[in-house]
Amino acid sequence: MIPKKIWANSGDSHFMEPPDLFDERLPKALADRMPKSQKFDGYEVVTVDGQEFRRDMPSPNADSKAIIDVVVERAPGANDPVLRLKDLDEEGIWAEVTYPSLGIWASSIKSADLMKAGVRCLNDWAHEHIMKASPRLVATASVSLLDIDDAVAEVERCADLGFRAVFVPTAPPAGQKPFNYIDHWDPLWTALEANNMVLSFHIGTEPVEADQQVGVKFRGPGGAVLNYTQTTFGGQIATMQMVASGALDRHPGLRVLVSEGGAAWGPFLGDRMNEGYRQHGIYVRPQLSKPPMEFIYEQVYASFQHDVTAIAAMQHMGWQNVMWGSDYPHLEGTYGHTQKTLHELFEDVPEAVRKRITVGAFNDLFPEVGAPPADEY
Ligand code: MN
Repeated sequence: MIPKKIWANSGDSHFMEPPDLFDERLPKALADRMPKSQKFDGYEVVTVDGQEFRRDMPSPNADSKAIIDVVVERAPGANDPVLRLKDLDEEGIWAEVTYPSLGIWASSIKSADLMKAGVRCLNDWAHEHIMKASPRLVATASVSLLDIDDAVAEVERCADLGFRAVFVPTAPPAGQKPFNYIDHWDPLWTALEANNMVLSFHIGTEPVEADQQVGVKFRGPGGAVLNYTQTTFGGQIATMQMVASGALDRHPGLRVLVSEGGAAWGPFLGDRMNEGYRQHGIYVRPQLSKPPMEFIYEQVYASFQHDVTAIAAMQHMGWQNVMWGSDYPHLEGTYGHTQKTLHELFEDVPEAVRKRITVGAFNDLFPEVGAPPADEY
């Protein structure tokens, strides 16, 4: 038996910041350099800290145009917390992790002073407008990765404000050491663990270089699928870096969420890393207290939207940390068809597996959101 309405928590959603957010809160000289989006016919131009990035908008056929209008332009609660809770109730989503939208561009900021002021401003806004709206909305704080002391200070400040998760892009800004350089990054992992904050990676958030068109790595036949799919891998690389460097070994209380990147990769990556750790043991530094796969299984969580294999990763491969996510209000997400998706996914799945993936894994990380309404059959 499956409930009429399946209630689920979501490990992945986004808030649209108001366009004048930085203008209202920062001195003009700084505000002018923060991420700004301008929409033109068929493309968008985002300016960040003196750089300009162009993103082509989809040129869909008539049917898909209608879908895109609904999801991208008209998800009523994309930037309004009251309407958002109505949307969530209708969709059957109880609590959700929310990431910034324009704020994701922050990883392309080059100057430490701007980044420090910008994330502070973004976090104050998220605190006032998202967290205060409802305990069901779990806002992620942003931090500057251009200066580790700034990052630690902002983690501490945001912990005091009540934030429970920190958004970190899947790769550091250009010129910074990769995440496996534990001597450089350890103060950040220490601060997150000490404050019981979840290290939340969202896929597709690597910094964009100025000569790169946003989201376009591949061209030619199949480009749309190639470009979409390749955004997945950054979350896996960040996870590998956290495990192989010993960061998760050194911080057993630190938990990692990888949002939007599917979940079947967890068992797969664990196997690959275990083989490397064992067969190339003579080269392995640092040694870990247990095989790499165990760190993934115990400390790493992953959210997916539509993937059938994600359920198998939990049900048949034993990874308990598989979590559903709506990716509200994005096109890749389930807005408008959440119940259809959840019913298709869980139709023939035991209740314990469904509850773990829809509610339990999320509540491991954020128990304070409470339980969704009771099931009705
Ligand atoms: Mn997302």
